[in-house]
Amino acid sequence: MAAIEIIPNVHAIRGKFAGEFGFIASYLIVSDGEALVIDPGTAGDPGDRIERALKEFGLNHKSDLIGIVCTHGHPDHAGGAIRLRKVTGAPIMIHADDAELIRNPQSFFEERLLMDRATRLSMKLDKGPLRVNYKGCEPDTLLSDGQTIQVGDTSLQVILTRGHSAGHCVLFDSTKKLLFSGDEVNNFPNDPRKFYVDLSGSLISKIAAIERLAKLGVEHLLPAHDVPYLFGEARLQFGAVADGVVHLQDTVLTHLGARGEADIEQLVFDVRQSRSVPIPESLDSLIKTTVQVTLEGLAEAGLVKNLGNGVWTKV
Ligand SMILES: [Zn+2]
Repeated sequence: MAAIEIIPNVHAIRGKFAGEFGFIASYLIVSDGEALVIDPGTAGDPGDRIERALKEFGLNHKSDLIGIVCTHGHPDHAGGAIRLRKVTGAPIMIHADDAELIRNPQSFFEERLLMDRATRLSMKLDKGPLRVNYKGCEPDTLLSDGQTIQVGDTSLQVILTRGHSAGHCVLFDSTKKLLFSGDEVNNFPNDPRKFYVDLSGSLISKIAAIERLAKLGVEHLLPAHDVPYLFGEARLQFGAVADGVVHLQDTVLTHLGARGEADIEQLVFDVRQSRSVPIPESLDSLIKTTVQVTLEGLAEAGLVKNLGNGVWTKV
């Protein structure tokens, strides 16, 4: 079987193990002869296993797949959308603020990460899940906050979270108390992905979104990496994500206070040296971006200020 049914009508299609990225997870909802894919994965993984799963359910992959939803536009979850649309003709659905990553996938490196040319080049050559080895296309449906997606008798509410990236959305099924959380909320307390954001993201939006999600009574949390969290108190997971973000903010603030003035490179070095927040080696470029967005959030709260030339200080 290409897919595993984890909750009635909800199937997980797991990608290959990808080191510190864990398993890339795609989900398929099958209800009343219709199907919806949530987060199709990279351009190759889980790839054709999604089409195989549709066939195994006796569905016509040309007519029964009603949509390919991308919770956000990062290559490890949206890269597969373009290929899947070619095969199935199903519309790609994504929020307007991440749509550019589907139109022009290279903009992920150019606009969403803080990278010098050499790092950009090495990421292009890297075979990891963030590789962009596909051409863009115009997405078909732009999602908006509060809208409902209907697949058979399942209704999913779109909730714009805007933390991990400006257009990040999660999908909530209020009947099953189930949340497709993309990269906004994950399952492991010590996972650095709980606070990683791209340059368009916001830790202030992330905390606000987590507070909103924590009130929904979620019982099943289905993130875009690794295994889902089922039949439990998902609010504990929301608490762990919010704590992680606050801890990162405190850490950056403490190091900046100790230095007096510092730039991003210095703060990344300090955060790494202090070992107080979990940082994997292979996601180097994301920590720099995350520290930048952390500083922007702290500046909005009036706690730090930018002195120009990339140098920051505590207020
Ligand atoms: Zn992501």
